Amino acid sequence: MEFLEIDGSQGEGGGQVLRTSISLSACTGQAVKIINIRSGRKKPGLMRQHLCCVNSAAEVCKAKVKGASLGSKMLEFIPSNISAGNYHFSIGGAGSTCLVFQTVLPLFLLTKKPSTLTFTGGTHNPMAPSYDFLKNAFLPILAKIGLNYNISIDQYGFFPVGGGSWRIDISPPKSYKKFKIETRGDLLKIEAKCISSGIPGHVTQREKRALLTHSGWSKSSITTENVSAIGTGNIVSILAHYENTSEVVDSIGSVGVRAEKVALNALKNFEKYQSSKVPIGEYLADQLLLPLVVTEGGTYVTGKLSEHTKTNVDVIKQITNSKIKLEQSELNNQWMVCIG
Ligand code: ATP
Repeated sequence: MEFLEIDGSQGEGGGQVLRTSISLSACTGQAVKIINIRSGRKKPGLMRQHLCCVNSAAEVCKAKVKGASLGSKMLEFIPSNISAGNYHFSIGGAGSTCLVFQTVLPLFLLTKKPSTLTFTGGTHNPMAPSYDFLKNAFLPILAKIGLNYNISIDQYGFFPVGGGSWRIDISPPKSYKKFKIETRGDLLKIEAKCISSGIPGHVTQREKRALLTHSGWSKSSITTENVSAIGTGNIVSILAHYENTSEVVDSIGSVGVRAEKVALNALKNFEKYQSSKVPIGEYLADQLLLPLVVTEGGTYVTGKLSEHTKTNVDVIKQITNSKIKLEQSELNNQWMVCIG
């Protein structure tokens, strides 16, 4: 078996190098050997979330895998055929199920048959797309290229307990459309949700008040919600609808961080996105690469490229022969990402 060797320490040296490698290995049939896994991180090697990504992708494409254990810094992944169907992926902790979903999604995009996926673990994690981000920012873009889906959440899963559960039914189309977005269009609507589980009600009330005081948005656009979760948790999630796209900005509460700070952090990050004028925000910019590379590609305008995006592009180019161009526009800090 000829392995393509991928150096996990390249660029950002984080979990994305691993996730992109196994996902594209499954999609292309190319066996990969990943070395120095996450060596750019304080605790290198496979953590629970990464292991769940490996095992989940391996299950869907019946891969033979070597090195899939906690802490492992080397992994061999030999893919076989991808099968659509019903799958349950469980992290067994609070790791991000949304990152597991984004790892296996490209495989299902290629099947052309419907699948139902259920997940248990974390749904709203720091440093990862939240369930709300998937539902309201990431997946609507895949709908534009032709993907049909239904997504629903039964239970939220916050760090450190996890235990969240959600489900998605996916029906890939016969053929995908090319994606193109250059402008976001006018702002149509803003909604902000202050969500909590198992903590005193004044927390989300204070978050709402802080948003009201500092944003100028109407009272009815900011809601508080008590959700079902096994552990305690809190998140402020801002959803902005534009003519051509939607963006979600999350701020996750944690012990010792004042409610007002959680709310203002969300607002600050939303204002940063709002003033950038680009349609595709920093996080979506790296997350769209994989699904677009395995379908018909496309172009999108984003802001300053993150190290994460640049690393992801480099890894994609090592595994596929996709042409990805990153062009800086004359406008300050706007970049056009062209795939295929
Ligand atoms: P590591 O532990 O090695 O850092 P990881 O596997 O947990 O790795 P990264 O490799 O850093 O995570 O990838 C994190 C992913 O989460 C990226 O795709 C990034 O776009 C996304 N992400 C991070 N923060 C947010 C956020 N606030 N909203 C949406 N997506 C986010």
